[in-house]
Amino acid sequence: MRLPEYFKYGEKGPVISFEIFPPKTEKGMENLGMVIEELTGIGPDFITVTYGAMGSARERTLEIASLIKNRFGVETACHLTCVGSSREELDRLLIQIYESGIENIVAIRGDVPSGAQEFIPPPDSYKYGYELVRHIRQFEEDRLNRRYFGIAVGGYPEKHTEAPDMETDIKNLKHKVDAGADIVITQLFFDNRHYFDFVERARSHGIKTPIIPGLMPILSVKQIERITSMCGATIPSDLRKRLDACKDDNEKARAIGIAQCIDQSKELLARGAPGIHFYVLNKSDHMKEIIGALPVSRFKYSGGKFAANIP
Ligand code: FAD
Repeated sequence: MRLPEYFKYGEKGPVISFEIFPPKTEKGMENLGMVIEELTGIGPDFITVTYGAMGSARERTLEIASLIKNRFGVETACHLTCVGSSREELDRLLIQIYESGIENIVAIRGDVPSGAQEFIPPPDSYKYGYELVRHIRQFEEDRLNRRYFGIAVGGYPEKHTEAPDMETDIKNLKHKVDAGADIVITQLFFDNRHYFDFVERARSHGIKTPIIPGLMPILSVKQIERITSMCGATIPSDLRKRLDACKDDNEKARAIGIAQCIDQSKELLARGAPGIHFYVLNKSDHMKEIIGALPVSRFKYSGGKFAANIP
């Protein structure tokens, strides 16, 4: 099923999705198989698989997405970036995605390589996410004669790190939607006010697509410091104080992170967010705790199992 379809059926309740990344090693792949089994058991609507940073491990993105869809029967999306791919290479990847029966793509520009000042597109490729979205829509027209893929793009409640200001960044988001994106998934954030302000601004710029908040449960202080330093998300001062008190105690940090994620999720859903996209970091136990605590009837946890996912 295409991603935008999930957001049409309000009566089904909020749409819950997970994001995982392709491991770099064979051992990592074996472990991920078990994690996917656990994650699919929770009953998410769909799972997305990132395109390895700098285009690394990209064959695995499709392999994992196919496994999720074809073995576990859960809808999936392949992330695709402009990094390391010419237009011809992008077409080759799109054909592979199509032939694997995958109907959804998270279309992303990709990050500036560490040490570089700006994003330099590969020869004969693209500099911005909106160009990639446009390329996919053109590919469908030329090769498939119909609109086929559900396309999600990234949105930045605290502004993308390279954007001069929020206004410019929102205008650039509008380009991606106008180029054919169906939904927006946000970068992670720890203060829901950023999300609600972002949605309001997006609507005032005529962006009508569903905007799905992206949340990353904190599992250790080191992990979240590394990730926030890369993506520009800020940690509110009260949360930072609590985390500073357990810098070397991952168990305590994890408990704080899970409680924080549950509180954020509850407020987002209560105030009308259409769903939540969780950056699960290739782990499943914390997601059982988080999803089990949400007031969503189809995710009720009892007898060690989640209730069946109601279509
Ligand atoms: P863009 O939309 O191209 O925006 C990048 C910057 O360019 C912004 O500052 C924007 O304001 C500016 N801009 C856009 N259009 C124009 C224009 N016409 N003129 C001037 N400036 C413009 N990274 C990976 O490596 N692999 C992944 O799988 C991956 N998945 C992600 C999924 C989500 C939901 C999100 C939010 C991020 C993901 N990332 C991933 C990280 C992503 O690569 C970085 O955030 C990247 O820096 C921006 O990607 P984008 O598609 O949002 O870029």
